[in-house]
Amino acid sequence: MLPPLAARATAVAGSPIREILALTARPGVISFAGGLPAPELFDTEGLRAAYDAAFTASPTRALQYSTTEGAPELRAAVAARTTARGLPTAPDDLLVTTGSQQALALITSALVDPGDTVLVENPTYLAALQSFGMAGARVVPVPCDDEGILPNALEQLVARERPKLLYTIPTFQNPTGRTLPGARRGEVAGIAARRGLWLVEDDPYGDLRFEGRDIPWLAAHPGAEDRTALLGSFSKILAPGLRLGWLRAPAALRRAAAVAKQAADLHTSTVDQLAAAHYLATADLDAHIARVRTAYRTRRDALLAGLAEALPPHSTWNRPEGGMFVWARLPEGHDATALLKAAIHHDVAFVPGAPFHTGTPDPRTLRLSFTTHTPPDITTGLDRLATASSGSSRW
Ligand code: PMP
Repeated sequence: MLPPLAARATAVAGSPIREILALTARPGVISFAGGLPAPELFDTEGLRAAYDAAFTASPTRALQYSTTEGAPELRAAVAARTTARGLPTAPDDLLVTTGSQQALALITSALVDPGDTVLVENPTYLAALQSFGMAGARVVPVPCDDEGILPNALEQLVARERPKLLYTIPTFQNPTGRTLPGARRGEVAGIAARRGLWLVEDDPYGDLRFEGRDIPWLAAHPGAEDRTALLGSFSKILAPGLRLGWLRAPAALRRAAAVAKQAADLHTSTVDQLAAAHYLATADLDAHIARVRTAYRTRRDALLAGLAEALPPHSTWNRPEGGMFVWARLPEGHDATALLKAAIHHDVAFVPGAPFHTGTPDPRTLRLSFTTHTPPDITTGLDRLATASSGSSRW
């Protein structure tokens, strides 16, 4: 007999999406399921050179323990990029994290006591729900429309539920791809300031805009400055295997997150940070991002061009201006999980929307990622999906 696992270990289920990813990892499957960046677009040569340079310049430093806050040159480079995008930021405002996923865990550990209320978009990023669930939070969905959070509904909810924080992905949201308009960001910041609420703005996709104008971060709106944790990541603009992200937060919250990070992993890999800093100093990250954007725009368009044929008649979907995801809804009487079973049988996959929901899920929704495959493969995948849809007309 052994003592039981902690309650939180059994309260939160594993990710059904990771299970689907395991199913679709076999060769030959064209998967719209995972949010995987296009591997052939990784700047492998540039990154290899950056690792070489990090070792050559200071091998012992690259291999040594380092500070929890992160390598000064990496923080300076990220601060300069953040400032250039309209949010004045000093290196000391930042904490380097092991992916932005860790920033989420640290913020949760710094802010959320068991029983605290956390507001989220519905649907939202599954691993954020897991992080809040592990902390014993009461997760409450904010009513949203096709453009994200409805400020009036948010205000009422905040008055009623007295939440500690709002977690939001305002730009090219995961899973819906939708973007919160600037005016609503201003309203959300105002509500947070008036009602006393932390804001967690998760932005791994904002740099992947294919068209339209950049919208200032929620963190840049009046009222948000002293209460927003802004999370950034190199995963979608450089490579997710680096596991490099960052957190920009007011001093007290940043210090609490740094203490939580000491308990979690002491610091993020020194060599990875130094290589990224070399890359930022010597390569042209913006030129690389421009190449990725161009490729992703073409892939989004290939997906959108074929969806009408691939999904059952009267399905609907959106047209995001960037990011990695399209969100679709099957017609009345259809179920995305049942369609997925037929799809996997035809060597194509997507993710049903249900697991991303808090409370009652919408079983007709699904998320399609358009970044992993080339346009010809996307078209082949859609042909297979059409076969799966027609063979499975009603569920
Ligand atoms: N937030 C959101 C909304 C995401 O979609 C992801 C990755 N899929 C992450 C955070 C975590 O990204 P990473 O840890 O690779 O930076």
